[in-house]
Amino acid sequence: MRLILLGPPGAGKGTQAERIVEKYNIPHISTGDIFRAALREGTEMGLKAKGYMDKGQLVPDEIVVGVVTERLKKPDCQKGFLLDGFPRNVHQAEALDKVTEKMDIKLDGVINVDVPDEELVERLTGRRMCKGCGASFHVKFKPPKVRNVCDSCGGELYQRDDDTVETAKDRLEVYHSQTSPLIAHYDKQGILLNINGNQDMENVFSEVTKELDKIAE
Ligand code: ADP
Ligand code: ADP
Ligand code: ZN
Repeated sequence: MRLILLGPPGAGKGTQAERIVEKYNIPHISTGDIFRAALREGTEMGLKAKGYMDKGQLVPDEIVVGVVTERLKKPDCQKGFLLDGFPRNVHQAEALDKVTEKMDIKLDGVINVDVPDEELVERLTGRRMCKGCGASFHVKFKPPKVRNVCDSCGGELYQRDDDTVETAKDRLEVYHSQTSPLIAHYDKQGILLNINGNQDMENVFSEVTKELDKIAE
């Protein structure tokens, strides 16, 4: 299956992605994770991306589109993929349309996770990420069994630099102005799957699998 996870920052894309890729056995391609890894490795791309990420702005399209295009050509993407956090504006979506056309493949579904803004700021500021495997936790909604330690890999948890109240608000603005038009873009293509993300993680996942199992038939 070739899927996109769409939704505002903090909607639970990463949380659902972990489960989706396990169940459907496809690679998870998160542009945010790719940039954070590049930054940890100290690459030029990582340093360049950091300036934008810290301000809650989008990294320039030519960087992001290049990274994703190369990733989609890797052999593991032949069995499908889950794009998380890409595309994030209409230009990126159009670039992806061209790439898939050229590769002679079609997207099967766009999972649109809907959560009201009021919930998102609390989700973002309480989020804790694993340094080892990138899994996300929440101080209140998904506390790790041991404080600051990842349940799955034992890695240390940290708070992202962009998960402050101020930057979270800027990111929500960017979402509404630049990313939310993608809902109409994919609705027109007839592949939009609307999911209520404002319920507990288990219920979100069962809604997602219900929709995906329909496509997989
Ligand atoms: P995204 O990748 O969309 O930014 P995450 O999956 O990292 O979002 O989730 C953001 C934060 O909200 C994390 O701390 C996560 O544990 C928490 N979270 C995810 N889904 C839910 C949910 N359904 N209810 C409450 N909290 C959630
Ligand atoms: P979240 O969904 O929690 O906001 P991500 O990890 O997807 O976070 O993204 C973090 C930051 O990385 C974004 O605020 C942006 O600066 C950058 N980024 C990630 N994906 C893209 C993209 N497709 N286009 C431009 N910038 C991106
Ligand atoms: Zn971990």
